[in-house]
Amino acid sequence: MSQYRYTFEKGSKKHQCPACHKKRFVKYIDVQTKEYLPEIYGKCDREMNCGYHLNPYKNGYAKDNTIKNEFNYQINRPKVKPKRVCIPKDVFYKTRKAYEENTFIQNLLNNIAFPFESEDIEKIIAQYHLGTVTKGYCKGGTTFPFIDINNNIRAIQVKTFNKSNHTKNTNFLHSIITKHHTQNQRKIPNWLKDYNNNETKVSCLFGEHLLSKYPYNPIALVEAPKTAIYGTLYFGFPNNPKNLLWLAVYNLSSLNINKCKALKGRNVYLFPDLSKEGKAFNLWSSKAQKIQQQIEDSFFKVSDLLEELAPNQDKEEGKDIADYLIKLDWHKFRKEKNKNSLQEAPKKVTEQTKIIEEDSNSTNSKKAISQSKEIQPKTTKIQLEENLIFQEKQTDNWNEEIDELESFFNKINIPKNNCLLNQATKITNVTQFLKSHLAIVKANNGKPIYLPYLRRLQELKHILSD
Ligand SMILES: [Zn+2]
Repeated sequence: MSQYRYTFEKGSKKHQCPACHKKRFVKYIDVQTKEYLPEIYGKCDREMNCGYHLNPYKNGYAKDNTIKNEFNYQINRPKVKPKRVCIPKDVFYKTRKAYEENTFIQNLLNNIAFPFESEDIEKIIAQYHLGTVTKGYCKGGTTFPFIDINNNIRAIQVKTFNKSNHTKNTNFLHSIITKHHTQNQRKIPNWLKDYNNNETKVSCLFGEHLLSKYPYNPIALVEAPKTAIYGTLYFGFPNNPKNLLWLAVYNLSSLNINKCKALKGRNVYLFPDLSKEGKAFNLWSSKAQKIQQQIEDSFFKVSDLLEELAPNQDKEEGKDIADYLIKLDWHKFRKEKNKNSLQEAPKKVTEQTKIIEEDSNSTNSKKAISQSKEIQPKTTKIQLEENLIFQEKQTDNWNEEIDELESFFNKINIPKNNCLLNQATKITNVTQFLKSHLAIVKANNGKPIYLPYLRRLQELKHILSD
C-alpha cells in the first residue's frame, strides 16, 4: 500500500486539463477520504505539448490543505536541448567557386597518374558540393560540407593538399572565420557565436544529403570525405543503383549511432583505414555490430579485405583505400561497371529541396584531357575486393520468391495512381517500379546486398493483396 496520502487516481480516467483544456488530465486523489483533490492538482499527459503538473507535496497543500487553491500554470515539460545552429546557406554558397585555384581538384585533373575527365570532376563537385578557400592561410584548400538529410549545412571541413593530394592541413570553415574576425578585432557574426555553442560540429555524415536521392544504393562508409570522393570516381556514380553510394563519417573515432540514424533500412559496408594491428578494423567492427542492432532494418558489415590484402608497412602508415586507388587506372574500373550496368531505379518522389541551383559552368576548370590510351584491364587488389563484396554469402537464391512475385503481379491490375509503399517511400509509377525492381532482383538473385529490392517487392505485393 502506498505510504502517500495523495496519489494519482488509478485507472485510465482522464479529466479536463486546467492548462490546455484537453481531456488528458490525471487527478490526485486523497487515499484517506477517497476524494479528489482540488482540480488544480494533477498531471496532464500531453507531456510535450502541455506539460502541466501540480504536485500537492510540492506547493504545500500536503502540509496545509486549507491553503488557497489558486490556479498557477506550472510547466514541467522535459528539458529541450538547445537548438542546433547550422551554417547559413550564403556562407556555404561563397565556397562554391574558384575551382581553377583548388589544388585537390586540379590534381585530379592534371597531376595524378591517371587524370580524370573534367565531366566527372564537375559531377563530383556538384554531387558533394565541394568548394574552394580563396584567401588566407588555407588558400587553395578544398571545402567538404557535411550536409544532412534535410539539406542543413552542419559543418564545413577545410583541407589543404600537396601535389599528390595528400592532406597537408585540416581545419573547419567556422574556425577559420572565427579566427579571421578575432585577429582583425571585428565582431563575430551572430550566427557564428551561436554555431560555436553547438555541442558537436560534425553531427552528420558527409554525403548524407544524397541518401534520399539514391534510396536503393548500397552504402560504402569510409573515414574521410576524400576517400568517399575517390570511391565514387573509381567505382562509379550512384545514378546506377548497383553502385555504392560513398559516405564519410569524418574520422575513425566519430562513428556513432546518431550519425548512422540516417542509414535506416540500408545495407552499409564500412571501410576503415588501415592501422597497426588492425585497431581501426576492430574498433569499427565492434561499433558496427552495436549500431546494426539499434537501427531498424539495417545491415552493417566491416570490410576486412584491405586488412587481409595490405602489406604490413601500409598498415603502419595507416593507409586507406584512397591511397591505393589513386595510383590505379580508373578506366578499367568503369569498364567493369559498364558491362553489367542496369537501368536506373525509379526516382524517389519525396520532396527534395534543391539547396543549390546547379550551374553547369561552376567548374571553371574544363580541360580537355585526351583519354586515348588503351589500357588492358588486369585484376587489381581493389577489383578483387569489389568482386568479393558483391559475391559474399551468395549461397541461397530467390527463385521461389521471384516466381511467386511475378505470378502475383501478372494476375492483378497494376494501379495507375501513386502507391504509398511505406512512410518513407511513395511509388509514382508502379509499372516502372515493378519492371526495374524485378530486373534488379533477377540480375542479383540471392545477393544479400540486393535483399531490400526483394523486400520492397514483397511489401508492395502485401499492400496490393488487401
Ligand atoms: Zn494539458
